[in-house]
Amino acid sequence: MLIDSHAHLEMPDFKKDLEAVIQRAKESGVEYIFTVGTEKKDWKRALEIADSHPSVYAILGVHPHNAKEVDDQTYPMLKKLCRSEKVKAYGEIGLDFFRNLSPPNIQLKRFREQIGLAKELGLPIVVHDREAHQQTLEILKSEKAEACGGIIHCFSGDDEMANACMDMGFYISIPGSITFKNAERCREIVKRIPLESLLIETDAPFLTPEPFRGKRNEPSYVRYTAQRVAEIKKVTFEKVAEVTTKNALRVYRLNV
Ligand SMILES: [Zn+2]
Ligand SMILES: [Zn+2]
Repeated sequence: MLIDSHAHLEMPDFKKDLEAVIQRAKESGVEYIFTVGTEKKDWKRALEIADSHPSVYAILGVHPHNAKEVDDQTYPMLKKLCRSEKVKAYGEIGLDFFRNLSPPNIQLKRFREQIGLAKELGLPIVVHDREAHQQTLEILKSEKAEACGGIIHCFSGDDEMANACMDMGFYISIPGSITFKNAERCREIVKRIPLESLLIETDAPFLTPEPFRGKRNEPSYVRYTAQRVAEIKKVTFEKVAEVTTKNALRVYRLNV
C-alpha cells in the first residue's frame, strides 16, 4: 500500500479524467490521496472530491503564491471548511521566494498567521518552501510550529534544514523530481534522512517522475518515487511503502 501525501486533483488538469486517475491510483496500490486546495477557487472543489471518494482526503490553505489575495473573508471561510472530517491538514502555507508571485513581506505575514490558524484548528501544517529555507525555518521556530507539527513538502533544503525540521517533529516529503538525472544532491540528502521521517508525494499535476517526465503527473506515479527512495536507501520497495504509509497515516491522524 502506498499513499500520495500531496497532489492537486482539483486543478483543471484533471477535469476530464478525474475518475480514471483515481481508479488508476487504486490499481497501482495507492490507497489514499491527499489533495491540496491552494486558493479560494479550489477549496470547495478539493473538499467535494474528498467527500465523494473514500480514498481522497483534503488539505486546505492559502499558498504563498496567493498570499496577496487574503481578505477579511478568507480565514473565516477556511475555518468553516476545515471543520469537515475530510480535511486532515492545513496548507500548503509557507514561502516561495523563487517566483515571488506575492510580495515577500506579505508571504511572511500570511505564513505566520496561518500557523496560528492551524493551531487553532488543531491541524498539522503542510509547508511549501522554495528558495526560502532560512526564513522558513525562522518562522517555524518563532511561531512554535512544533505544537502543530506537519510536513515539509517537496523538500529542497540541505542537511541542516532537514535536521532542524525533524527536531521539531516535522516529516520530510519527497517528490518525483528525486528520479531526475540532476537530483544527485537531493538523493544524497535523502540517504541521510531516516525512513521514519519520510513521506512520498507526487505534487501532481507537477513534477512528473521518470520515466514519464514531461507528461502530466498523477497519483499512481508515486510508486516511481518509492522505487527510487528504496534504491537510495538500499531497502526493498515494500519497506518504503510500509514505512512511508505508516508515517502519512500518523501525521494526518488517519485511523484506518
Ligand atoms: Zn508546494
Ligand atoms: Zn503542492
